[in-house]
Amino acid sequence: MSPNIYCVEALNHPVFKTLSHVAQNLDLECYVIGGYVRDHLLNRAGSKDIDIVAVGDGIALAQALADALPGASEVSVFKNYGTAMLHYQDITLEFVGARKESYTHNSRNPKVAPGSLADDQNRRDFTINALALSLDQNQWGALLDPFTGVDHLAAKLLITPLDPQVTFSDDPLRMMRAIRFAAQLDFTIDPQAWLSIKNQAERIKIIAPERIVDELNKIMSTPKPSAGLSLMYEAGLLDIILPEVTALLGVEEIEGQRHKDNFWHTLEVVDNISRTTEKLWLRWAALLHDIGKAPTKRFDPKIGWTFHGHEFLGGKMVHKLFKRLHMPLNEKVKYVQKLVAMSSRPIIIAEDFVTDSAVRRLVFDASDDLEDLMTLCEADITTKNPKKQKRYMQNFATVRQKIAEVEQRDHLRNFQPPVDGAEIMETFGIGPSPFIGQIKETIKEAILEGEIPNQKEAARALMLKKGISLGLTPINSAL
Ligand code: ATP
Ligand code: MG
Repeated sequence: MSPNIYCVEALNHPVFKTLSHVAQNLDLECYVIGGYVRDHLLNRAGSKDIDIVAVGDGIALAQALADALPGASEVSVFKNYGTAMLHYQDITLEFVGARKESYTHNSRNPKVAPGSLADDQNRRDFTINALALSLDQNQWGALLDPFTGVDHLAAKLLITPLDPQVTFSDDPLRMMRAIRFAAQLDFTIDPQAWLSIKNQAERIKIIAPERIVDELNKIMSTPKPSAGLSLMYEAGLLDIILPEVTALLGVEEIEGQRHKDNFWHTLEVVDNISRTTEKLWLRWAALLHDIGKAPTKRFDPKIGWTFHGHEFLGGKMVHKLFKRLHMPLNEKVKYVQKLVAMSSRPIIIAEDFVTDSAVRRLVFDASDDLEDLMTLCEADITTKNPKKQKRYMQNFATVRQKIAEVEQRDHLRNFQPPVDGAEIMETFGIGPSPFIGQIKETIKEAILEGEIPNQKEAARALMLKKGISLGLTPINSAL
């Protein structure tokens, strides 16, 4: 096939010229392939990740480039995958040798053999990701597009290079990638491909959770995550990956009383929050904020539908879910858990008469995450009744104002007790004992209840009073 499109402007960066020379010296053909080429043709702002395919030894090419490029990083070699990576200025270059792959049904690990550029393009996921640009000096910038990917870019279509049954069966992660690209680029998945995703959704189970979560996070980072999440749902993938969320689907009616469909509500909340924050983990908190509702749902003939304790249970479920999907079990999970567990607190305050002590407790418990919690709660308002919507927003405005007042007066965020354990021990001439905890707790409670201000003098007075009531005697110098 003789190319008739050239994309010389895509190769302006000086690194491409150096790479071309180095490849010529090694007597290798090499091409830029995949996302970088696609994004260039889509006019998506300059991608910094560049994938290079070499017909031959990709690792050797990477090493040779690093040697020829002052300021390049060390080459990281991934022997098992036959790939190598290096950083240069603000770009990352990934190298792979062109290969043929053959898969067995039960495993994601293909048998790999060296191949031609065409072989390598065949094993790519979508025609728009199989586009390659030549770095050969005689064909500089020639676009090699065996599957008319350029037409599919124009038509905004995701089509597999091979029969979709084969492409998706070989590596079922590609089903997630199809949905991720559809959501990210606002493309349509070709009907044949879509059918085959629906038929093979179960095969996602052979994929390592980390790889699935990578794609899921990219979906969660799009401006309107519900687009990707609802495709996952329709394909049957969401049921397998996040059954806690699909369990929220449906409306039940008993004695004429209905509850809202918490699945579609959740997707709306995720979209709402994504309009106001880019924070991935806050978006996750929105996705999971109601998961405790499915297992706690009850019908009480007097009150109607209830979800008692759903926040607490939801928080626990978050941990299990993160563990199952091999997601980070560090401060990230704690943050999401905390927001889920506290997700109704500002609402309760907003609905009731707003007491100062309730606001103080909210500030104290939410601490540094208070802003995010308020953002989550505001996103949670999905009522279509304009009067209610207005009332809820006004209530939250009141809560925010109260928070500001309490913050200014009491400094409860990152609360440091005005009297610490050492001071208590010194005052009563005692060593470590349960009394210390009791006294500290009394002081904290009095501050949160507004009985004393968050100040040293008042706290010391209460310490003395409480200590004495516990049978302790202050030593003279303490008085
Ligand atoms: P992004 O903008 O997210 O980086 P990308 O297309 O560059 O998009 P990568 O995951 O960086 O995606 O992969 C680079 C290229 O490698 C893809 O364009 C595609 O050609 C190929 N590729 C990646 N993953 C797969 C896969 N699972 N199956 C087939 N080809 C893949
Ligand atoms: Mg990439």
